[in-house]
Amino acid sequence: MMALTHGFMALAAAVFLLPAIGEYAGPAMLAAAFLGGLAPDADLVARHRKTLHFPVWFSVATLALSMLAVLTGSGALLVLTIAVGAAALHSLSDVLGGSAEREPWNPTTENGVYNHVLGRWHRPRRYVRYSGAPEDFLVCLAFAAVAINSGLTGPAVDRVLFGLVAFAGGYSLCRKRFATIGAVASGLVPMRLRAVLPAVSVEETETDGTTVDIRFGR
Ligand SMILES: [Zn+2]
Repeated sequence: MMALTHGFMALAAAVFLLPAIGEYAGPAMLAAAFLGGLAPDADLVARHRKTLHFPVWFSVATLALSMLAVLTGSGALLVLTIAVGAAALHSLSDVLGGSAEREPWNPTTENGVYNHVLGRWHRPRRYVRYSGAPEDFLVCLAFAAVAINSGLTGPAVDRVLFGLVAFAGGYSLCRKRFATIGAVASGLVPMRLRAVLPAVSVEETETDGTTVDIRFGR
């Protein structure tokens, strides 16, 4: 699933839960939910769905933090709980998606999400076949609609959210053509400039997800 789908999923969950928190609910918590929902996918440049995806530890941390937040009544702790809870939701729900590999629409691995406690990968359920799949965009759109409809976000924030939905749509349209687009774009870069630009290659390995190789001077 796209990072944005996870961001909107967490935001939608937050707008459902925040009224229960009452007076504490505020923009910081919505931001925490959205950013916490995006955060685990920062491991796209490391070992995707392993380095920053912790289905068990994020869930345990969310439980512990929420108890602490209730006991202390601290607003800051509540914001942290929401961010970690959003990351837990992201890590758990990735198991419903496709495998972490170069072309998940032609799957060759069974690596859904890594479970650090069990020391193995969870099998991908492939309800959403790959990040940027048409069904991924629909899920993203549905969660975004819930968040925007809630009325908890102001008009300025809504405009940003609409922009992000449009970006997700563009990403979904191009998803399978990234390799071609990359090749065409690099073909448009003049030879002399190409020598000084770093060459970045992203490789997805059989066992551990993604490695990024950056080389200077071709
Ligand atoms: Zn993820």
